[in-house]
Amino acid sequence: MFALCDCTLAFFYKIPFLFSFTNIEEYHKRLGEGKITCVEATVYYLEKIAETKHLNAFVEVYRSESLERAKYLDEKRNRYETVGKLHGVIIAIKDVICYKDHKVTAASGILENFISVFNSTVIAELLKEDAIIIGNCNCDEFAMGSTNENSIYGRTLNALDETKVPGGSSGGSAVAVQAGLCMVSLGSDTGGSVRQPADFCGITGIKPSYGVISRHGLIAYASSFDQIGIFSNNIEDAAKVLEVINGSDIYDSTVSQQKQRAFPLSYKTGKSRTHKYRIALLKNAVEHDSLDKEIKKNIYDLTNSLKKDGHEINEIDFNLIDFIVPAYYVLTTAEASSNLSRYDGVRYGYRHEDNCIDLSSFYKKTRSKGFGKEVKRRIMLGTFVLSEGYYDAYFTKAQQIRRLLVNQTKEIFKKHDALILPTVPTTAFKTGSMQKDPIAMYLADIYTVYANLTGTPAISLPLFKHTNGMPFGLQVIANNYDELTLLEFSHMLMNNYKTY
Ligand code: GLN
Repeated sequence: MFALCDCTLAFFYKIPFLFSFTNIEEYHKRLGEGKITCVEATVYYLEKIAETKHLNAFVEVYRSESLERAKYLDEKRNRYETVGKLHGVIIAIKDVICYKDHKVTAASGILENFISVFNSTVIAELLKEDAIIIGNCNCDEFAMGSTNENSIYGRTLNALDETKVPGGSSGGSAVAVQAGLCMVSLGSDTGGSVRQPADFCGITGIKPSYGVISRHGLIAYASSFDQIGIFSNNIEDAAKVLEVINGSDIYDSTVSQQKQRAFPLSYKTGKSRTHKYRIALLKNAVEHDSLDKEIKKNIYDLTNSLKKDGHEINEIDFNLIDFIVPAYYVLTTAEASSNLSRYDGVRYGYRHEDNCIDLSSFYKKTRSKGFGKEVKRRIMLGTFVLSEGYYDAYFTKAQQIRRLLVNQTKEIFKKHDALILPTVPTTAFKTGSMQKDPIAMYLADIYTVYANLTGTPAISLPLFKHTNGMPFGLQVIANNYDELTLLEFSHMLMNNYKTY
């Protein structure tokens, strides 16, 4: 019944031309008042996705399935049954999150046409709370990259300026929210892959503390860094989705044993309007040579305004800044070389059948053809840093840096509620500009990898606009497991200090 072509969908369902989405709470209100239905909202988004196909944000759109689900949810609501916390909320997911009976490929040739046989925990939780999964989104292969250009599906375009990248690796999920193709989306963040594209696209992107959200069913890149994150248009929606997907999980031993937490933002009671925060500013980060002058100025202007309004700002020396990118790339490539060894052509996806005289040539040919250039570069780098004779010089050293960072961060949060720094040193790169220089691309991760090395929760807030026309964000980090302070402080900043 739902096998209609895109152009007839709107007509068939008589969708209101004025449908617009502000936040989940408002959407729920309109559903309750009968001003809109889940089917109408779904049709609206399906139409928009079809109109913006050239952005290449989606790998697959679950058209008929999401309409069927929307219809089921409308009926459920009309029967006055209890509805879920994300009733009818339209969500897109990154192509690294397993959804039973749906294709999941990590944008890699090696998982071509691979169908997931189970639901990741996040998907199970979203569905339990009545969400509608509308499709899965493009990304860099195995979440390795900063531009969304390393994908078998081709690049995703930044909807604000199509000559620029949307960032990566969760570029498709970011554009899905930026271009209004869903209400919220999920990405994954190992070294900035949610915060950096959020910065480039002018939206909100949060990476919770390591261990807050189960990684069960998230295709691994670097297991001690990976964390699922949320893209949204506002802080309230991020808090709502986080409430549903956090919590302990028997399928992930690295996830916190804490029960599912709620994040009631106290702006409703007025606390966050009057509360004075103690804020740390990483001096060496804002003074770093790689930082665009205008981004630097905007951050100093913001700290001056915060000071004037009675918040405490302390500039902190952070001498480890130049060690964090090397430490991140040593540790993550080491973990990746181990995680990705499972793609051998026997158990998953692509297998090379021709001219394989023995098992070793079968492995070699499968992996050489199946993986893209950047993934192969990282597997080789990771294998090298783990190899005998080099292990102590690279892997152990990087672990030591990680420990120093964790200790220093603990000290900072003894005296502060939040830490602020840029999200990225520049605004969105020109398409293709980073392809020939992987080192330059790695160095641009200077501000985001810190939170993954320390496991702290971090968010990018779209507070600023550059004179080159592109948006850029402020990154806020809070103490481990203190997502509530992170969200409240962010909400206060978004309400009072947005500059455009
Ligand atoms: N740009 C970083 C990298 O390429 C971030 C990746 C991520 O967070 N998944 O490793």
